[in-house]
This record gives sequence, C-alpha cells and structure tokens, in this order.
Amino acid sequence: MAGDFLRVECPDCENEQVVFGKAASEVVCAVCGTTLATPTGGLSTLDAEILEVVESRESHT
Ligand SMILES: [Zn+2]
Repeated sequence: MAGDFLRVECPDCENEQVVFGKAASEVVCAVCGTTLATPTGGLSTLDAEILEVVESRESHT
C-alpha cells in the first residue's frame, strides 16, 4: 500500500483533505492549520480520521 493517498477529515473543522500516506513533511489542515499527519520515518502518523484510501493508480473504465 506504499504510495497510497488517504482522504482524511480534520478533527477540528471537519475539512476533508487528501494527504499522502508516506508524507515526508508534516501535513496541516488547509483551513485551520491543525496537524493532520506527522512523518515518523516510514509511515505517517495520522491525527485525522481516515475516511477513505485513495489508490494512487486510478483505472479508467
Ligand atoms: Zn481543520
């Protein structure tokens, strides 16, 4: 599942945002600035609620 994107919901303002599952830098909410994901060497630590895993490779039907 490396390289997947995650759709998350900000715990503070309920803004939905897509973040990279292995973000190399801290990801903050675009609306209120709350930290959503913190890089921890490998996988990111997510502080936000994961709504959906978005496949990085999309198939067109
Ligand atoms: Zn927010």
